[in-house]
Parts: sequence; C-alpha cells; structure tokens
Amino acid sequence: MPRKIGIDLGTANVLVYVKGRGIVLSEPSVVAIATRDSRVKAVGAQALEMLGREPESIEVIRPMLNGVIADYDVTAAMLRHFISRANKHSLFKPEVMVCIPAGVTSVEMRAVRDAALASGAKKAYLIREPLAAAIGANIPVAKASGNLVIDIGGGTTEVAVISLNDIVVSTSVRVGGNKFDEAIANYIKRKYNMVVGERTAESIKIEIGSALPLERPLTMQVRGRDQVAGLPRTIEIDSNEITEAIQEPLEAIINAVRAVLVETPPELASDIIDKGMVMTGGGSMLRRINELLTHVTGVPCYVADQPANCVAIGTGIALEHIDKLRDSLSGDDLN
Ligand code: ADP
Ligand code: MG
Repeated sequence: MPRKIGIDLGTANVLVYVKGRGIVLSEPSVVAIATRDSRVKAVGAQALEMLGREPESIEVIRPMLNGVIADYDVTAAMLRHFISRANKHSLFKPEVMVCIPAGVTSVEMRAVRDAALASGAKKAYLIREPLAAAIGANIPVAKASGNLVIDIGGGTTEVAVISLNDIVVSTSVRVGGNKFDEAIANYIKRKYNMVVGERTAESIKIEIGSALPLERPLTMQVRGRDQVAGLPRTIEIDSNEITEAIQEPLEAIINAVRAVLVETPPELASDIIDKGMVMTGGGSMLRRINELLTHVTGVPCYVADQPANCVAIGTGIALEHIDKLRDSLSGDDLN
C-alpha cells in the first residue's frame, strides 16, 4: 500500500503526519546551502543549529519566513528531503497532501505541487491552512454551521470561518510569532540598551511571555550585548514587561479577528457565538492569548489540544477523506 503522507509546510516548522503512525517528523523550516554551488548541506534542526554560526561558505535560509515562498528552489529541496525521509523503506510512491500558508500565490501553489510530484509522490494535493487546522482541531467542518479558527504560526496569522468543508470568510496577516520575537528584542534594546538575538527573544517569549499581565509575574535572566560598551551583560526581565513589549503584534492579530467577525454572515456569526473560536498554531501557546481575544471580541476563545500539531494532523485526515473535500481543494490543486 502506498503511504499517505500529510505535510504541514509551515513558515517556522515542517511537520509530517503518516497515516497509522501519527506525526513522524517535526523540524524547523530551515535549509543550509553551500554558497558556491547552492548544494543542500543540511535541512531542519541540523540547519538551524548552524544559524548565526555559519562561515561565508554556507548560507542558512528560512525559505518561507513571511508566509510567502522567498526561495522556490530551496523550498522544493526542503520538501523533497522531508518526503523522502517520511517514505523511507516503502516500496511504493506515496500519496501526499501539503498544507501551504494562505499568502502563497496560485503560481507558487502549482510549484509546490510540482515539487511534491518531482520528489516521487504518486499523487499530490494541496490544502489551505485554516481548513487543515480546523480538521486537525476536531472541528466538525462538514456541517452546515459556522466555525472560526485562528492559526498563529511563525510568519503569519490566519483567521477563517469554515462551514460545509470550505472557507467562507478569511484573512491572513503577516504577523506571527516572529513579530513577537522582534518586538521583544526591540523593547530590550530601547529600555536596556542591550542587544539580544532572535533565538534569545523567542525563548523569553516562550518562558515568560503573556498576552495579559500575570497576577504573579514571571521573571527571567537574559543575556545580551551592551549596546554602548559592546560587552556581554545580564539583566532580569519580568513577564509584564514582555506583555508591554508585544502590544503591537497582539493588536494586529486582534484586528484580523475583528475584521473576519465583521464580515461573517449573521447565521454563521450566531453559530460562532454559541461555539466560540478555536486557536491553533505554535503562537496560540502564548499565555492568556485566548483570554485576551475573548475579552476584546466578547466571543469565547479556546486553544485546541496540541495546537502546534493540528495542521499536520488535519492534513493527514484530509488525505483520507479526499472525496468529501474535493470541491474545496480547487480544480487546479487536483490531479
Ligand atoms: P508555522 O505553522 O508558521 O510553521 P508554528 O505553528 O509551528 O508555525 O508556530 C511557530 C511559532 O510558535 C514560533 O514563532 C514560536 O516561537 C511560537 N511558539 C512555540 N511555542 C510557543 C509558546 N509556548 N508560547 C508562545 N509562542 C510559542
Ligand atoms: Mg502553521
């Protein structure tokens, strides 16, 4: 039997789901290539380790960072690498479903599909991220009832209302976890004259970040480089400072959710008020972000189980129900 492989081609992480086995692979969307001849040196975690430590002969690339395919060849190489790893020891060509960020154009979509076929897939389908996220979050997407999903990834946030296996209203903004990291780094630079790298900023967000102030603030020691003296330095920072630092990206996400709610037809809006909104994606693991959204919209907001895995799981499930979803995967996406 050919393997059925679902791939979440995310801006920050690639996850691979194989039917019967679950998530078999989860690695950062990073590729290291040789500057001289563009040969792929490493993919995923191995490539991320090189980031910031690479000599001139190696370039470390995040090919989809802002939700668009910045470098098609590198994206294709990354996809090939993950498909071949997921299909190892199988005698058959796999069937593949790839989930792509909403910002990807139809030309790029075709390119991703061609790359999947070129890496040995017998069949390759594409699915939009909010639909895959909703399926993976166990939302009954096939019913004639409105469901709102908010997926916060590394480079983008997608908000969509889904009914009858399809997206009714949606928006995508280029604000995701990366913008939170940037905002934290900028805040520390402004307030403490200290420079921290993007990976340090991310670990501050994960360790103590919160969308609303915490009653008992968390604190953390942060190491960076003093902007004036140029020497290493350590400061202590607390979670309420991080809440203040990330106001701008939070606001952008709130606005995206509001924009979708405003455009939602009344029957569907009433379903959503009953059932609430569901959050997926790594960014939804920020403390109290669902409470913030509940507070500002008046609609209850929940974080899905295993939010970072929803898209990959949904992509795999979609592949098993391809006949029911055929109409929502537009003609071009099918072969
Ligand atoms: P994508 O689908 O774009 O690849 P993911 O859904 O994998 O993105 O989410 C990646 C983002 O989630 C990153 O910005 C990462 O910093 C963020 N993230 C992961 N864990 C947490 C956490 N516990 N709190 C806040 N943000 C988190
Ligand atoms: Mg994603």
